[in-house]
Amino acid sequence: MSASGAESGCRVDYTVNKWTGGYTAQIKVTNLGPALDGWRLNWTYTGDQQVTSAWNASVTQTGSSVVAVGSGWNGTLATGGTADFGLQGTWRSADPAPSDFSLNGTPCGGDGTPPPTTPPTTTPPTTPPPTTPPAADCGSAVICSDFEDQTGPAPSGAWQFTAPDCQGTGTAAVDTVVAHSGGRSLRIDGGTGYCNHAFVASTADLSSVGPVMYVRMWVRHTTALPAAHVTFVSLPDSSQAGRSLRVGGQNGALQWNRESDDATLPAQSPVGVALSRPLPTGSWQCLRFAIDTTAPGLDTWLGDEQIPGLHADGVPTQDIDQQWLARTAPPRPTALRLGWESYGTGDDTLWFDDVTVGSAPIGC
Ligand code: CA
Repeated sequence: MSASGAESGCRVDYTVNKWTGGYTAQIKVTNLGPALDGWRLNWTYTGDQQVTSAWNASVTQTGSSVVAVGSGWNGTLATGGTADFGLQGTWRSADPAPSDFSLNGTPCGGDGTPPPTTPPTTTPPTTPPPTTPPAADCGSAVICSDFEDQTGPAPSGAWQFTAPDCQGTGTAAVDTVVAHSGGRSLRIDGGTGYCNHAFVASTADLSSVGPVMYVRMWVRHTTALPAAHVTFVSLPDSSQAGRSLRVGGQNGALQWNRESDDATLPAQSPVGVALSRPLPTGSWQCLRFAIDTTAPGLDTWLGDEQIPGLHADGVPTQDIDQQWLARTAPPRPTALRLGWESYGTGDDTLWFDDVTVGSAPIGC
């Protein structure tokens, strides 16, 4: 069905958060015309903005022209319906907000009334790469564990307890009460205090997984991420001589940390922290990573949201990956450990289930 016509229209709310050299934009598009089974939003930048990443839509920029395409759960727009998506980009000399939005070729007016003198744009839809890995079963994944094969109270077989640096009061166990799938999960009771480490390591060798390593896990935890630095996923990394690429939290939000130089992603500025997300407590959360082992690229999804502050793309962005990209060798994770590592304050009880690592994108 064509969406063009004087009776149809759309409204766009474009909310930008900018800093020197970079910006993020949250975009809400409201369809005031006929229902759309598949939508694309076009606009033109009049400054020198350049989109570097996006979440909840596929966004492609050609010159100054930008097209955002909804997909999956965000792909249809009923009459009166809205879609929200976001993007991150860079700019140098000017970054005025765009104003020439059109939805499936129909110009959007700020009040929902399409300006009659503007012809519809004819930019054809492109086929950008997906911003969220599609759902998939384990396929040929190297790790694919629902922990249902764990028979005893202590991790065994393909999962082994380890405290690589030092051990305190933290413990690991197979839980038969709380599970995301089936009747078993991995439970970690992580203790506070410097060097209180308790992990369960997969025995799988991940050194040939790639070129992009995709990790998916369901995690549930009890206590909000603290202000102090903590880790709950540790990936021994041969590019750091065996030191780890770590996922955890700091300042209440998720972060990546590189053990060898203590770099964080995002940078721990207020702006950087705000571009990450807390890990909600008391419910199972789907956490996914895409780790490029051939270039400095890293992406993180919490549920369906690609987290803007947990994105490294090779282009230094202040408050996000500028510090992270000071070291250019891409990571080469070789193993996976799930657990808890405190460096001061912060304790937590966590469960892990349905853990998958492979060379292909993995859905929740
Ligand atoms: Ca399970």
